[in-house]
Amino acid sequence: MDQRRPDEAPTARLGALATLPVFFRLSGKPVLLAGGGDGAAWKAELLAATGAQVRVFAAEPGAKMRQAATDLDNIDLVSRAWTPADFAGCALAVGDVESDDEGRLFRDAARAAGVPVNVVDRPALCDFQFGSIVERSPVVIGISTDGAAPVFGQEIRARIEAVLPQGLRAWAAAAKAWRPAVMARNLDFRTRRRFWERFTRRAMDQADAQPTEADLAALLATLDTDAAAGPARGSVVLVGAGPGDPDLLTVKAVRALQSADVVLYDDLVSPRTVNAARREATRIAVGKRGYKPSCTQEDITALIVSLAREGKRVVRLKGGDPMIFGRAGEEIAGVLAAGVPLEIIPGVTAAAGAAASLGLSLTERETARRVQFITAHARNGRLPDDLAWAALTDPRSTTVVYMGVKTLPVLVERLLAEGLDPQTPGIVVERATWPDERRITGPIVDLPARVASANPAGPCLVLIGAALGGAPLALDRFRG
Ligand code: SAH
Repeated sequence: MDQRRPDEAPTARLGALATLPVFFRLSGKPVLLAGGGDGAAWKAELLAATGAQVRVFAAEPGAKMRQAATDLDNIDLVSRAWTPADFAGCALAVGDVESDDEGRLFRDAARAAGVPVNVVDRPALCDFQFGSIVERSPVVIGISTDGAAPVFGQEIRARIEAVLPQGLRAWAAAAKAWRPAVMARNLDFRTRRRFWERFTRRAMDQADAQPTEADLAALLATLDTDAAAGPARGSVVLVGAGPGDPDLLTVKAVRALQSADVVLYDDLVSPRTVNAARREATRIAVGKRGYKPSCTQEDITALIVSLAREGKRVVRLKGGDPMIFGRAGEEIAGVLAAGVPLEIIPGVTAAAGAAASLGLSLTERETARRVQFITAHARNGRLPDDLAWAALTDPRSTTVVYMGVKTLPVLVERLLAEGLDPQTPGIVVERATWPDERRITGPIVDLPARVASANPAGPCLVLIGAALGGAPLALDRFRG
């Protein structure tokens, strides 16, 4: 939260800017556009969307341009080439020209008339450039790479598109509509700021719900009852961080991270995943690695609850999916018992990550009728003795073993004794979806010895079953 008072100067200077992003109101203003091709038609529609009066000069307009001029009232098509006199009084001029020479003429004519000019695809001739746009109007985001790499700009745009809910549009419009009612209350600076902070939090948390007058009333009421009310109410979100590759976070997970005050993360979570959190968020590592001394589950649950009680938005980032071998039950019970609001966002579990990276279906028809996830690590660190052996030795099942490396020799010994075919294919995947993923393969009877000599140090899954008999792929993985 920005605690700076308006009279305090910012401490850091801005670095050099290639261009200045400005947001130009064009509604009702004349804009000149030269050119009749498809590219010009798209520019005409873009300019028309701002409410500008777009005058298009094109001796031979193409079909798209003619259609745009028919569909949109504020596009006037003039079926001749532009002349210098046409620039008079225009707010902007855009030229989609055939040659550099024509581009220079166009630029010079615009400048002579004092009109800022863009010559399409000729950055050297431009006063201003069009960025890629993310549109949640009245929220408009423009992205410019100063012509360095348009594809890069498009990718940045796609990423912003993915994290900004469509509903932002309605909330931003509500902010505009409600501003007079808030101003009319003559609130002091801090109280007004608090109102807009709460508005923003609600908009971000419930972006997909339409804002209503009841929301406005409720937000204003929180200001009235502030003195009486206790500290702000925190919340907890259990978020699946996926198996390693940070790009496997869900869009919802990224949003939660972007509004977190505190992030508690396991040691299986990659640093890049943790870095998806809001810059100001406090990050706390709460690893509890199998056999090493570290935070206990009780400590972690207590910490989550106490942070939420301080009014913090707590994100608990758990490796893979939170509901699979993540002891989520204890955290959920603790949070609910404390009366703190809770949300759970699923993630890609390690088994799904490993299967994708191996390129092997866990439910190959004919060979697997069932997939089962088990843990080979009981509370005491030994192989649990109440596993369902008949299910695990079923020749048409795929078994994925979490936390199964240490007990692999005993597990395999027992499976073989219970009747599993010793030639059943097995794969151990270490650090699935990470750049340094490793696989150890072999018939199940040989797997323990191979794993012992490979001596994996990272998290490992053991996959067992006829479905894993195909050749694992070496698909491209993320580069950390
Ligand atoms: N909730 C997690 C599992 C937590 S239990 C999930 O849904 O994936 C921790 C175990 O998960 C590890 O011991 C290992 O067996 C497995 N695991 C987690 N990430 C892994 C990865 N990237 N590669 C292989 N196994 C992984």
